Amino acid sequence: MDFAQTQEQQMIQDMAKNFAENEIKPYVDEDEKNQHWRREIFEKMAALGFFGFCIDEKYGGNGMGFLEGSLVIEQVAKVHTSWRMAFNMQCWGPALTIQKFGAQAQKDYYIPRFVSGEFIGSFAMTEPDIGSDVAAMRCRAQDKGDYFLLNGTKMFITNGTICNHGLLYVKTDKDAGAKGITCLIMDYSLPGITRRKLHDKVGLWASDTAEIAFEDVKVPKEVVLGKMNKGFQICMAQLNATRLGCSAGALGLSGAILEQSIKYANERTQFGKQIGRYQLIQQQIAEMKMEHESLAALVYKAAWLKDRNLPNVMETSMSKLYGAKIVVHAANECMKLHGSYGYSEEYPCGRFLRDSKQFETLEGTSNMHTMIVANAALGYAPNRV
Ligand SMILES: Cc1cc2nc3c(=O)[nH]c(=O)nc-3n(C[C@H](O)[C@H](O)[C@H](O)COP(=O)(O)OP(=O)(O)OC[C@H]3O[C@@H](n4cnc5c(N)ncnc54)[C@H](O)[C@@H]3O)c2cc1C
Repeated sequence: MDFAQTQEQQMIQDMAKNFAENEIKPYVDEDEKNQHWRREIFEKMAALGFFGFCIDEKYGGNGMGFLEGSLVIEQVAKVHTSWRMAFNMQCWGPALTIQKFGAQAQKDYYIPRFVSGEFIGSFAMTEPDIGSDVAAMRCRAQDKGDYFLLNGTKMFITNGTICNHGLLYVKTDKDAGAKGITCLIMDYSLPGITRRKLHDKVGLWASDTAEIAFEDVKVPKEVVLGKMNKGFQICMAQLNATRLGCSAGALGLSGAILEQSIKYANERTQFGKQIGRYQLIQQQIAEMKMEHESLAALVYKAAWLKDRNLPNVMETSMSKLYGAKIVVHAANECMKLHGSYGYSEEYPCGRFLRDSKQFETLEGTSNMHTMIVANAALGYAPNRV
């Protein structure tokens, strides 16, 4: 593995950094306060080609892969972690999954629209009573001959109130467990859909999260992605891509926390010295730095393996699991290091801590990823592509 970045990777990273600093940073405080998803930022990201990583150029892709995508997500998440979600909702969720499993007509129609931002995307498997045990989902699409009749509720869906299209995982054979799930490319303008924004989240305040209820929604059959009742495999493949988006987001947040902690350790003086001169503060900084660099190695390696189509499920889970662990630790240390100022909104420590906690749950809880890593390491399950 070559650790040197290519000139192109360096350029795309710099571009993303400038974009995040100039176009996202000015709105962070306002959008956090108002829990606002800002359409202009989304449109600018689309215009820059941010939703085209791993997507074929004939569908509007940008010709770059997981590694470049991770570098960009990292820079965006470093400035405002809520915005890391957009990459998964457009690119590594719907667009890439349709590219892998879709019929040609679906690829031609949907992918360019997710990449360009014309369609605001989502993916939905979680339900009020079903999270980790995806196979047990209940939201049901009954075959009515010409169409499906859809009933049920999805919960905690990112972009839930703003998406117009997205991947929706439903039960088409209610007694078949994982073998009864089908993936639909859902049109959210259909009658019978009610959406409710969740305003009480701990963090990710500039990202939209919602409950979506389906009541007797008539869904045309041509929106089935891949084969009927093969949705579980599609879901696992999708998650293996979008999880890397999580890991890269955690890396970005970890970088922001480290930078803020170093800045404050150099600025703040107590007992006549910069606090960074005290060994206990140095221990905090050293740990944050080591953990950040270790996470970077895990994220880039998982991306590198993905770009070469080499087995990477274990590596992706390691980056997701480790990312969650270290970013929560770093956010906690950062707040301590800032003393009472860390506990006030004058500094971003509160947002760091709030946003860090998402990584322990989203796209597979830390327990789930521990099992994936352990089962692969022990040889109980193969490490897959
Ligand atoms: C901000 C936000 C955005 C989200 N966006 C989306 C989205 O876009 N689409 C979507 O589908 N979902 C989304 N989710 C939902 C998220 O993916 C789920 O919450 C997650 O998969 C966990 O499910 P759960 O909350 O039901 O927890 P549960 O599965 O009920 O787990 C509860 C606890 O039990 C543990 N546990 C469960 N089973 C086991 C086991 N077998 N062994 C050991 N421990 C176990 C878990 O690790 C966890 O600690 C989002 C959630 C949030 C908070």
